Amino acid sequence: MNLASGPVPSATVPAAVETGGLADTLGRPLHDLRISVTDRCNFRCTYCMPKEVFGPDFAFLPRADVLTFEEIEQVSRVFVGLGVEKLRLTGAEPLVRRDLPVLVAMLAAIRRPDGAPLDLTLTTNGSTLRRHAGPLAEAGLRRVTVSLDSLDDEVFGAMNGIEFPVARVLDGIAAAVEVGLGPVKINMVVRRGINEASVLPMARWARGTGVTLRFIEFMDVATRTAGGWTRWSGPTSSSPSSTRRCRSSPSRRAIGARSRPAIGTPTGTARSG
Ligand code: SF4
Repeated sequence: MNLASGPVPSATVPAAVETGGLADTLGRPLHDLRISVTDRCNFRCTYCMPKEVFGPDFAFLPRADVLTFEEIEQVSRVFVGLGVEKLRLTGAEPLVRRDLPVLVAMLAAIRRPDGAPLDLTLTTNGSTLRRHAGPLAEAGLRRVTVSLDSLDDEVFGAMNGIEFPVARVLDGIAAAVEVGLGPVKINMVVRRGINEASVLPMARWARGTGVTLRFIEFMDVATRTAGGWTRWSGPTSSSPSSTRRCRSSPSRRAIGARSRPAIGTPTGTARSG
């Protein structure tokens, strides 16, 4: 894929790829594309970006190595031409990327070869969703998935690494519902001995609010595979795992796609949908 060739001028997909399609090694067609728009996050979840490693001196990607909005749009158009129907914006935390509604509007204008709009979604930690929900919805975002590991402030604050309060995430979820970014899905990473006592309270809460709650089993894959995480250079004992709710590498090599059915498919990236 040649990103240096400039943006695709048409509002439709490139004709050269309209008849093609992508499939994984099992022959399943590729429908979903996950796009990481930043490697930065305001949280320091213990299983993803522990503050002992991702401190003030941590070297995040240089701006020049992060895809521009125009490049993301171009890549998206190509993948839509190859059969992708759903785009999910992730990060680390996508809402720390400036002017994200501008990108959302660009992606919302893309049409599938049959003229249908895309299913355009976003995964967020919800911390600034109250402020961003309206502009994102106006720009064409359809749904959001919010990460929330507990309704208990002490438990949640310890897991997110910055003692961020539950109430503000809940308020962000409410804002998303208010502007029609639903059905809102909630991803809860469950860690034995850490927040398993939060499972039932979360289930009771979800049942009363109409959100879709999904439990994500903590899998410490990074410590079980040779080399672990490619950008990781810290001690194995606290390595970030593959249970990264929102996080995937945002470099020019890291636009990830997956085939359907994806639920339960071990992709090694953040599992949300
Ligand atoms: S899991 Fe999500 S919210 Fe937590 S540090 Fe990683 S990207 Fe940020």
